[in-house]
Amino acid sequence: MEVQKELKILLAEDNKINQQIATFTFKQLQLKCDIASNGSEAFEMYQQKSHDLIFMDIQMPVMDGLEAARLIRAFEKESDSLHRVYIVALSANVISEKREEYIDAGMDDFIEKPIQKSMLQSFISQFRT
Ligand SMILES: [Mg+2]
Repeated sequence: MEVQKELKILLAEDNKINQQIATFTFKQLQLKCDIASNGSEAFEMYQQKSHDLIFMDIQMPVMDGLEAARLIRAFEKESDSLHRVYIVALSANVISEKREEYIDAGMDDFIEKPIQKSMLQSFISQFRT
């Protein structure tokens, strides 16, 4: 049997309840995730662990998700790394209007909060081929 490499997932979310819901949902899918409470923490954790997938809340204190995504992309560019983390924006707002702004900041995709198990599963499956 082939052993799958464990996915390194980071959740950046300032709301404790949303953190718990997401953690529970990840657990249901046999996944673990690191948790950052703002964009600045997310950027630091990413630099240390080089995650495969980041779920990034847009609205956070200290540093928002868009700024964190920009920093991560700039860091990837600077470090000349072949590794490119997949960043999924999380937003409670109607996100279609914000689409371009998210993409410009370096987001790859976006989903509406709260995170649904089926949504999560479809993202994860892309990384489990
Ligand atoms: Mg928030």
